[in-house]
Amino acid sequence: MADMFYYSTRSAGPGGGTGVTASEAILRGPAPDGGLYVPEKFPEAGFGWARLADMAYRDTALEILRPYLTDYTDAELEKYVRAAYDAKFDAPEIAPVAERAGVFFLELFHGRTSAFKDMALSLLPYLLKAAAEKQNVRDEIVVLTATSGDTGKAALEGFAGVEGIKVIVFFPCEGVSAVQKRQMITQRGGNVHVVGVRGNFDDTQTGVKKIFADAQSGSGAWARGPRPFFSSANSINFGRLAPQIAYYFHAYGRLVKSGAVSPGEAVNFTVPTGNFGNILAGYYAKRMGLPVHRLVCASNDNKVLYDFFNTGVYDKNREFILTSSPSMDILVSSNLERLLFHVCGGAATKEKMEALNARGVYECRADRAEESGIVGEYGSGAEAEAAIREVYRQGYVMDPHTAVAYAAWKKYSARTGDARKNVIVATASPYKFAEAVCRAIDPALAGADAFGQIRVLERLSGTRAPEAITELESLPVLHGRVCEPGEMAEAVREILDK
Ligand SMILES: *Cc1c(COP(=O)(O)O)cnc(C)c1O
Repeated sequence: MADMFYYSTRSAGPGGGTGVTASEAILRGPAPDGGLYVPEKFPEAGFGWARLADMAYRDTALEILRPYLTDYTDAELEKYVRAAYDAKFDAPEIAPVAERAGVFFLELFHGRTSAFKDMALSLLPYLLKAAAEKQNVRDEIVVLTATSGDTGKAALEGFAGVEGIKVIVFFPCEGVSAVQKRQMITQRGGNVHVVGVRGNFDDTQTGVKKIFADAQSGSGAWARGPRPFFSSANSINFGRLAPQIAYYFHAYGRLVKSGAVSPGEAVNFTVPTGNFGNILAGYYAKRMGLPVHRLVCASNDNKVLYDFFNTGVYDKNREFILTSSPSMDILVSSNLERLLFHVCGGAATKEKMEALNARGVYECRADRAEESGIVGEYGSGAEAEAAIREVYRQGYVMDPHTAVAYAAWKKYSARTGDARKNVIVATASPYKFAEAVCRAIDPALAGADAFGQIRVLERLSGTRAPEAITELESLPVLHGRVCEPGEMAEAVREILDK
């Protein structure tokens, strides 16, 4: 197989310099110039749709990963995929597809932490550890992660106990659900650390990016003394993105298998979006040849992406709204930078990112749905609540993030008349957000106690909450550290010096 090389989104790309291998891109996280690594090209998915319909999740994942991760051997990838997608998922299909309420729900929440971040973070630790060996890095690797709620726990679970790697997760104190917070502060494992930040997700992500930049240039907290080897578990790491492409193919295979679509028939995917990582993987699947008509980018009330796709202006200068879908409460969507690179090239991307840093706003007229297949829509808090209620009456319980996508799909299809088959990417278990879900189903059932509401939801839905969630009620709190956004580097220092 031809080697695949990776280039920074702020570089001239292939032809304009030398690229790095997959393992180097995964080991580094962001590129040294502050950009994100992108592959030099999109490999053609070489399997027919009939064959895809009969493939197990692991085989699909392998087929997708192979042409991207060319400096890993087949034997390595096979071993990692086998270890990642095993019985820790509570569905044998790994990512089952449920047909309800006139749409298909691609359920990505059957992993250990009950959100879609497990799809990539079950695999990333293996890829990262092997990358360090391939790149001859002997130092301890410090995985720095900012989380809007779900990445943190998935990274902690994925990396807990992995030798040679330390994990530090920063989460916005007031910006996550009660269950999300408990999942993180009760995490066991000698190599994992959790710090609350008194700020929102953007403050938290900005703080982590600054630590990366300072360590890269040897300034700020790293002006003197040894610099740790930092990597990232956020979707800025290409090792997060690649495994996510697989489930778009898997979903399509399920639809072909059930006879819902004929082989080659184009479908839509609606993706609840925050940092633009999940939907970007869908875009990569489309570029690899998956028959995708539209990717509906569903935002919540923080609808900076909706405005961008509809006006061509990205403007983060607006109020940050705390919603019932906290993992989408984001105003700076990091992975949009990769889409910009693919549609308008490195020089223009660099300019726009500089404008974003300096003024919080940039313009990009090139990014039209006709070219990318992506359209922006949003679901407000009230619309998401109504969607939860409506779909509950049809026998299916959605979490608030999935509900934003459902509401957005309804608006998009009513506006455009697009009646193609639609897959809603279901990103979290409703049990992670039981208070919001119960309140939406019936305001008379509202209650503030997360674990009490989980029991109410069990009664309402006739399903059982995952044990990994119910046991949180009695686990001891192990991480109590809290800091200001400006003190994050200090916190890293203290943790590493211990
Ligand atoms: C992370 C997350 C999202 C947003 O995904 P992005 O890749 O950041 O766009 C949506 N829903 C849930 C439940 C999540 O955890």
